[in-house]
Amino acid sequence: MIENLLARLAGGSSWREEQASSAFNKLSVSDIAYCLSGLRREHKRFLETRYLGKDWNEWLAGWLYLQTPQSKYRQELCQLAVRELLQPRLCPKCKGRTEVTNRAGLKKPCDRCKSGIVPWTKAKRARFVGMKPDAWRNWESRYNQVYKRLETLDIQIRRHVKRKLK
Ligand SMILES: [Zn+2]
Repeated sequence: MIENLLARLAGGSSWREEQASSAFNKLSVSDIAYCLSGLRREHKRFLETRYLGKDWNEWLAGWLYLQTPQSKYRQELCQLAVRELLQPRLCPKCKGRTEVTNRAGLKKPCDRCKSGIVPWTKAKRARFVGMKPDAWRNWESRYNQVYKRLETLDIQIRRHVKRKLK
């Protein structure tokens, strides 16, 4: 499992990609420990939640809260970002596989998504936060900033692992 995790992290392959390349399969436990060493606590908890099935959702939302300016829905937007990034909505067209098979049986890249996941709908976001769907548009740009801050953790982790694997 952790090999797949690292392959995903280092290769940036699709979210549901289950095949690890043979190079990553050869990584020993100490190699893996080395790859992950030096990550900050928020990175480790993000990793554990996203890839290893642990539940640090509340902790991560709290971490995010501390970096988010005060507003009426500050807490809810942070919880939503954690939920959306860690439980992404799979692309309905390719089911997260990033490619589709046409009638001739040929595989081609999905034109609906790039990574196999698509954003939650506005209605679903609004419902999660507890506001009317119409009100969401007033919060969208603020939410995007919150989401991006959390997403940066993922980007930093990938960079870190790539650097260590060199
Ligand atoms: Zn797709």
